[in-house]
Amino acid sequence: MDLPKSAQIVIIGGGVMGASTAYHLAQAGAKGVLLLERTAHLEDSATSRCAGGVRYQFATEVNIQLSKVSLPMLERFKDEIGIDPLYRQCGYFFVLTEPSDVEAFKVNVALQQSLGVETEWLEGDEVRHRLPLMQFQDALAGTLHEKDGLADPSSVNMGYLDRARDLGVPVLMETEVVGIDVEDGHVAGVETERGHVACEHVVNAAGPWAGEVGKYVRLEIPIQPVRRQMVTTTPLPDIPDDFPFVIDFAQSLYFHREGEGLLTGMSNWEQEPGFDQRLDDDWEANALEAAMDRLPLLQTAGRLSGWAGLYEVTPDSHPIFGPTRVDGFWIVAGFSGHGLMHGPVAGKLMSEFMLEGHARTVDVSMLDLARFEEGRPIQEYNVI
Ligand SMILES: Cc1cc2nc3c(=O)[nH]c(=O)nc-3n(C[C@H](O)[C@H](O)[C@H](O)COP(=O)(O)OP(=O)(O)OC[C@H]3O[C@@H](n4cnc5c(N)ncnc54)[C@H](O)[C@@H]3O)c2cc1C
Repeated sequence: MDLPKSAQIVIIGGGVMGASTAYHLAQAGAKGVLLLERTAHLEDSATSRCAGGVRYQFATEVNIQLSKVSLPMLERFKDEIGIDPLYRQCGYFFVLTEPSDVEAFKVNVALQQSLGVETEWLEGDEVRHRLPLMQFQDALAGTLHEKDGLADPSSVNMGYLDRARDLGVPVLMETEVVGIDVEDGHVAGVETERGHVACEHVVNAAGPWAGEVGKYVRLEIPIQPVRRQMVTTTPLPDIPDDFPFVIDFAQSLYFHREGEGLLTGMSNWEQEPGFDQRLDDDWEANALEAAMDRLPLLQTAGRLSGWAGLYEVTPDSHPIFGPTRVDGFWIVAGFSGHGLMHGPVAGKLMSEFMLEGHARTVDVSMLDLARFEEGRPIQEYNVI
């Protein structure tokens, strides 16, 4: 497809945020939406490397409210979008081994319950009883919410992109934006490797690269790319179908079913920011040792695959939404490792911001870019 010479709204990035924004804008009647994506097949996007977890269990009201809209959108996704997102409510099971985490999670669960999210609180013995295949002698407590679970990142991403195309949004792959024109404080167009597009609005949905795109309009966007890695195993027939998404919170070590085997990952809190997406052998050896300590059955499985991807991390682990001080330059990025689950609602909120002047469905006004300069971060404790 040829590059159009002009558009009303150019969305930069075709991952879940760009795709959901394009769909929701077009569905709400916006004309002249154009989506530009650097890669041919979204091959190094965060969305394509995502673990697929979706959950209500968060530590801040705004994240819980985002989940309360977004996860039901996944339940309706097949009817609305026509593609099955493979949403499976297997539950997220946080296991707590540190007294400080127990105290923090008690507060989180009370907040979740006050907002209508029925998270269960489990004592250590109950954790061991419910996870008989795992070694959690040191578990002090756990939390479980049965409507948390897993969805397929690619189906969600492609579903929104396909429907956006059907609604008339050109989606141009292999079209990197390399600059943004600003005239008298207003966005006037984008420069791409294939030519110039005049436009009035630009949406920065560039995920881990959103900070780089911000430089084109001289905005400092504090989103850092941070590598996260995981491996999958060959079939493990002894793992039951209803095995939950288990998180050993203190170690940021997690397990969930993936096909007939398991997926396991562990966050490396020492990981320096950067765009390297290669798998690191030392990480893999450490992570697998920790995983086998918790789930000895893993010793009977083979390694099926492994990969790394980039979290898009903000200083307070919350996303950045909405307009900026550059007129016509909008951001939907920085979901800090939980963007798949909030992708559906994020696109809807962006369409409300851009077409109605404010985000109506969930109040995300506190998640503006200016909060970092103005010293009003909102820290999320429940990140892995
Ligand atoms: C290993 C891993 C595990 C994760 N697990 C989970 C999970 O269990 N649950 C969950 O909810 N979230 C998870 N996440 C986070 C989630 O994947 C992200 O928050 C989400 O996918 C971000 O989507 P995005 O559209 O903002 O970014 P991306 O999917 O990265 O999309 C951004 C796109 O912008 C394009 N782009 C960049 N610069 C330009 C440019 N100049 N011009 C044109 N295009 C450009 C890129 O090529 C990319 O395709 C995980 C992430 C990783 C890496």
